[in-house]
Amino acid sequence: MLDVIRPDIQNLHAYAVQPSTGFIKLDVMENPHRLPPDLQAELGARLSAVALNRYPAERLDDLRAALARHAGLPEGCALMLGNGSDELISLLTQAIARPGAVVLAPQPSFVMYQLSCQLLGPRFVGVPCRAEDFALDRNALLDAIALHRPALLWLAYPNNPTGTLWDDEVIEALIAAMQHHGLVVMDEAYQPFAARDSLERLRRHPHVMVMRTMSKFGLAGVRIGYLMGRTELVAQVEKLRPPFNVSVLNAEAALFALEHEAVYAAQAAAIRAERERLFAALQALPGVTPFPSQANMVLARFPDAAATFAQLKARGILVKNVSAMHPLLHNCLRLTVGTPEENSALIKALQP
Ligand code: PMP
Repeated sequence: MLDVIRPDIQNLHAYAVQPSTGFIKLDVMENPHRLPPDLQAELGARLSAVALNRYPAERLDDLRAALARHAGLPEGCALMLGNGSDELISLLTQAIARPGAVVLAPQPSFVMYQLSCQLLGPRFVGVPCRAEDFALDRNALLDAIALHRPALLWLAYPNNPTGTLWDDEVIEALIAAMQHHGLVVMDEAYQPFAARDSLERLRRHPHVMVMRTMSKFGLAGVRIGYLMGRTELVAQVEKLRPPFNVSVLNAEAALFALEHEAVYAAQAAAIRAERERLFAALQALPGVTPFPSQANMVLARFPDAAATFAQLKARGILVKNVSAMHPLLHNCLRLTVGTPEENSALIKALQP
């Protein structure tokens, strides 16, 4: 019966999540902080009152409105919900997947842009970043836009796995070049930790969309992503959304979190401060090169990433070895910023 499965799917590897029970978990950019116990109890009471016998409806409208307020959505724009931003990546890829369509992204970047193309049809073109600092290669990207006329350009801002916040002037040049070809989606998953964002670009550019998620904010388990853009454009992508893609429990938890956004803002501030401490500690290690980050992770090059990964794992710390993801990432580990105690344990375990 396996024969009925598309051969290209049979040849794919499933997205792998490392087993992490018992580890200090610094592998997938989760917010390490939970809600204070009194708020957890309050949330429990809210969730127990949710009507689980009904399909999600009005509460999703409430959540869209709360997220629009939280983000400061401009006039003339709309916001749609995804089951995590992973789902939105898939829906956008489907939306542009006419025969011959091309999707462009700098590399290394978030793997789902490419994987969604493999699953859904468009041709993926990756343009390597500059080797020394993972900045965008302006000329190579402009050439690729002229050559391939992509229907979609992904810019993770800040980028995963490098933490880079791309140069604004280069982004504007790319947006201008894409004007006659397709959409530019600014993937702002790491916006809570970054000095700048792209929301204001929605006012100026009808072909720009901004995607965010509640995952890095502190609700990775809740699976809420959202996509913002001009109302007419969002209405087209909405047609692809499974009607009840967001659970009422998830919506209620997300609404609760937004009512307490000051708690999460304080957590993000603590994570940004710890990121700088981790960066400085990495810089002080002989032979180690950390790359400046505006996200809740630090990418660093080690003399032997596999050995360091194993050394950390033996001490109960799980990070992500991204060395094999792209040639530019050779000997690189991606270290998620944890609690102060977790980061101190990491720094200690890294000492020679
Ligand atoms: N975009 C980027 C750049 C990411 O790094 C991630 C997750 N690591 C996502 C999107 C997906 O996030 P989620 O599906 O949890 O919203």
